[in-house]
Amino acid sequence: MRQKRSKNYRKQMSAYTTAFGFRKPYQVLVDGDIVYDATKYKMNLSKSLESVVQSEIKPMITQCCIKSLYDRGDEAAEAVALAKTFERRRCNHLETPLTQAECLSSVVNVKGKNKHRYVVATQNQQVRRQFRSIPATPLIYINRSVIIMEPMSPITEQAKSKFETEKLLGGLNSTRSRH
Ligand SMILES: [Zn+2]
Repeated sequence: MRQKRSKNYRKQMSAYTTAFGFRKPYQVLVDGDIVYDATKYKMNLSKSLESVVQSEIKPMITQCCIKSLYDRGDEAAEAVALAKTFERRRCNHLETPLTQAECLSSVVNVKGKNKHRYVVATQNQQVRRQFRSIPATPLIYINRSVIIMEPMSPITEQAKSKFETEKLLGGLNSTRSRH
């Protein structure tokens, strides 16, 4: 990975841990398409994800996203095998499976917040666009065999500044109260 990019990713992840309570190993929620594309490009998905977030990760996949891989048939056999090694995120949509986009949204977006602190790795541009409005949701995708983390969304930047301001004010207040 290019050095500048790597530094930028490190900075981003450190903000996610300091301001938003992310903990290592990061929980990375992958969709079926990124698993499929990784096998297509012969990438080691877990290693690539670890190189982006620069830490150990816990890869997770929902039941609907696994199902989307089964639905692709034989061409996705390798991707299915890989997905099975990841922790299964129960989404309780087994009886009436949702689309991957709907499923991801239902497990990530808890009342407008990324409550479970997922890093989301999805090839779906619309999902990424939607998740940019949920503060503190790191987004990863593969672009022609290169793994990319999106820049922090403006909403996330705002939330981070708010945290920093409050921390600063909190610090000032506690200094003051000691006197
Ligand atoms: Zn689901």
